[in-house]
Amino acid sequence: MHLHDLTIKKFNQGLVNKEFTALEMVQQLYKFIEKEDKKINSYLSLDKEAAYLQAEAADLAIAKGKGVGPLTGVPLAIKDNILIADQPATAASKMLENYTATYDATVIRKLRNEGAVFLGKTNMDEFAMGSSTENSAFGNTKNPHDPKLVPGGSSGGSAAAVAAHLAVASLGSDTGGSIRQPADFCQVVALKPTYGAVSRYGLIAMASSLDQIGPITKNVEDAATLFQAISGHDEKDATSSEVIYGDELSNHKIEKLKKMVIGLPKEYFDKGVDKEIIKKVKKVVKDLESLGIKFKEISLPHTKYAISCYYIIMPAEVSANLARFDGIRYSPLEGVKAKNLADLYLKNRSKGFGKEVKRRIMLGTFVLSSGYYDAYYAKAQKVRSLIKQDFDQAFKDVDVILTPVSPTKPFKFKEKTKDPLSMYMTDVLTVPANLAGLPALSMPPGFQLIGQHWREADILNIGHYYEHVQNSG
Ligand code: GLN
Repeated sequence: MHLHDLTIKKFNQGLVNKEFTALEMVQQLYKFIEKEDKKINSYLSLDKEAAYLQAEAADLAIAKGKGVGPLTGVPLAIKDNILIADQPATAASKMLENYTATYDATVIRKLRNEGAVFLGKTNMDEFAMGSSTENSAFGNTKNPHDPKLVPGGSSGGSAAAVAAHLAVASLGSDTGGSIRQPADFCQVVALKPTYGAVSRYGLIAMASSLDQIGPITKNVEDAATLFQAISGHDEKDATSSEVIYGDELSNHKIEKLKKMVIGLPKEYFDKGVDKEIIKKVKKVVKDLESLGIKFKEISLPHTKYAISCYYIIMPAEVSANLARFDGIRYSPLEGVKAKNLADLYLKNRSKGFGKEVKRRIMLGTFVLSSGYYDAYYAKAQKVRSLIKQDFDQAFKDVDVILTPVSPTKPFKFKEKTKDPLSMYMTDVLTVPANLAGLPALSMPPGFQLIGQHWREADILNIGHYYEHVQNSG
């Protein structure tokens, strides 16, 4: 089987039909990674030895007649802010350059129990802050479709690895668009789950009220499989929910789909969005319409405040979450000479964090400071409620909402690094789903389906149906 054709489903079929063993595929993948990843730098670290052991264990279980589960032996790439016991977890920061995780994140524990194989850890913007992976302390990741272009971010490594067939699928994290936008730039699929659907235990926190781990895959069916495996309640994450997802995620009944109404929010088809992108998304609408699905124009009037609201709430939470990194715990910084403890903290944090991380810590500290709290943070929380209410209102009339993912096409390196605001604007269409805690699926050719809370099935089923019709037509 050619690596380019490999999806989770095909990998599973290949194992069942004994076309290959898990170990053979993992070996083949590492050979390919060693040759190809020099060109795009999607991985920060590889753990061959552990992966071979996992693959052998999967093959052994099959030989013993234990049956082949949907994720048995499946080789995955994992964003470097998700902990895998005994592997590095740098979050692409100098601050954690020598840190080795001491335990598995809950998503990893679940996937391990399913027999999945972890190939390595992928590159990202430092602590998941950015939209191009240019904020990594360990070099840029290139877009596999054109090395002059960024892969998007912050899960740029995870998206590029899947697009370049250096993993069958991957995990990333999405706080304001970080799996959907890179998936869009690299032309693969990503699902940001409902807030609380997936445990955040063992994810290096960025903004805890927004963060969700989600799959990046080659097709919608694989996203459903991976999402189902990682979702579920976890006593180690008090915000994780009891909702259990079942077969409805991949069981699309066409008659039911045809009864759905999809909303098109006019604010997302604004002049600020690249014309070609709008054209492509409108074509998707036409194609779905011709299959019998109904559309309706809607309004989400507070969309224009989403970016400002996000860039207050997110840094506030970032400044609190990153307070624990002092350059002493986790991964001691070496060679820093200090007069006293306060001076050591200052010097370590100055040395260990990159520019964008520092900018956000300062912004966050400012918006939380007494005297400014009400004017910024408290106000942003109120606006967040209004943004949520917009969606609640819209979902009285429509089942699902369809929008573009990104206002721009993949851009060139350094194009936006001098102007942080222009970089922040690339998140304009993805942050509202995080602020409202809604699930959202991003897929080629550049559209996003936003669903109601806990209704991943709706967006996955429509996405799957669209993909199926495209591939067969
Ligand atoms: N690009 C956004 C930011 O820089 C989103 C990051 C994310 O989702 N982790 O904050």
